[in-house]
Amino acid sequence: MKALRFENNQLQLADVPIPRRDRAALVRVTMAGICNTDIEIARGYANFRGTLGHEFVGVVEESPDRSQVGRRVVGEINAGCGECELCRENDPRHCPDRTVLGIRGRDGAFAEYLSLPPRNLLIVPDNISDRQAVFTEPLAAARAILDQVEITTSHRVAVIGDGKLGQLVSRVIAGSGCDLTLIGKHSDKLELAARPGVKTVELEALEIGPASRFDFVVEASGSSDGLGLALDLVRPRGSIILKSTFHGAVSLDTSRIVVNEISVIGSRCGRFETALRLLESGGVDVETLVAREYRLADGVEAMAEAQRPGTLKVLLTN
Ligand SMILES: [Zn+2]
Ligand SMILES: [Zn+2]
Repeated sequence: MKALRFENNQLQLADVPIPRRDRAALVRVTMAGICNTDIEIARGYANFRGTLGHEFVGVVEESPDRSQVGRRVVGEINAGCGECELCRENDPRHCPDRTVLGIRGRDGAFAEYLSLPPRNLLIVPDNISDRQAVFTEPLAAARAILDQVEITTSHRVAVIGDGKLGQLVSRVIAGSGCDLTLIGKHSDKLELAARPGVKTVELEALEIGPASRFDFVVEASGSSDGLGLALDLVRPRGSIILKSTFHGAVSLDTSRIVVNEISVIGSRCGRFETALRLLESGGVDVETLVAREYRLADGVEAMAEAQRPGTLKVLLTN
């Protein structure tokens, strides 16, 4: 089969064997989404070598769980050992021996087929299209914030970043009814995010001062500058939620965190079940975030397009 791989410091389309694993399901990938994490991996993030991609929708071709065969599915990307305490509580997201689809020790979704444990797969309801279902993983990641902090109607919240992730985060947090501001650099993307209950502001026009501070600041800009801005915006004893993963280190004046008693919270993967329910109810619009579709065979070009500043979601189809 064809697969888009990162190896020898290079992104390339390769012919590889179909990934059949013991006690695993084989999924024929219909559609996959390119995420900033994929772009960062191709820059050296996470030291991953192999087939990229972790956002997908597909059809089960083979599975030890016969009821899955022929069904349209999405898949939780963390595959745990199945035996540790976390895995036994059905949360492999921090299993020390986990593999992660297209990120850690397991070939990913930019391929004709992928392999995951049957327990990772969730059936996609019929009223969710492939172009919506392919957003389940990033939507779950955005939704994870609401499992980590309690945001109510009385809170002032800022989201930094008007890219793919910031757009999803602001759509999800808007549902809490809080006073929400999305901060970005692109007027067209801010316009795309504007809706009742979401204020948008261009970075250049942003006023920073004690009177305009936020209870929660979500950093979803994908850039190392975002954290400094988050510190400027958060109120004393407020919280910063970090969503961006990028290759490289950030230098930071930590005394501001100490003096202002800021909580800094890392936030990664969320629950697929919750994200599917959000898509099923139509509560979050995702299809307007699609910039372009490419065939897997043109995957190298698609990755180049996805890296162009300002590009929203680029999809790969089989
Ligand atoms: Zn992702
Ligand atoms: Zn485990």
